[in-house]
Amino acid sequence: MDHKDCIFCQIINGDIPSAKVYEDEHVYAFLDISQVTKGHTLVIPKTHTRNIYDTPGDVAKELFERIPQLARAIKMTYQPDGMNILNNNEKAASQTVFHLHFHLIPRYLESDNSFNFTWENNTDHYTLEDLQNIANDIHLNIDNDNLHSS
Ligand code: AMP
Ligand code: ZN
Repeated sequence: MDHKDCIFCQIINGDIPSAKVYEDEHVYAFLDISQVTKGHTLVIPKTHTRNIYDTPGDVAKELFERIPQLARAIKMTYQPDGMNILNNNEKAASQTVFHLHFHLIPRYLESDNSFNFTWENNTDHYTLEDLQNIANDIHLNIDNDNLHSS
């Protein structure tokens, strides 16, 4: 199902040009126009979903199945020192295009200034009991997941 106002559905349909890296029945991969680092690639399902929350398991399975091969192809091509694979969900997490996508961002030690993120280590703020309580709260809602059976 495609959404006519979705820029990534338009890319899949060929209505908007893209630098295609790979395509098959389920998945489309193309260069991110922003090229945070050289080879920065987006991998998207052909089925339109807004983000990870509304993505059925079978769509995720097809998508993830191809990511290692694409990552290896980028690695073989440019020999980066590392690679980040990122997925942003909702505005608060920097999602700007609302069609599920994964960023494959090769990292180059010599010239990595254009990519940055930091996160704090809050290990000291939690006891093992605190952690287990959080884990239990999340676990309870695994059974309440409506998309789980698909
Ligand atoms: P996000 O912030 O995770 O939603 O990422 C959306 C990404 O889509 C950004 O990195 C944009 O540079 C990229 N993007 C937006 N429009 C296009 C386009 N027409 N072709 C390629 N990449 C695009
Ligand atoms: Zn779409």
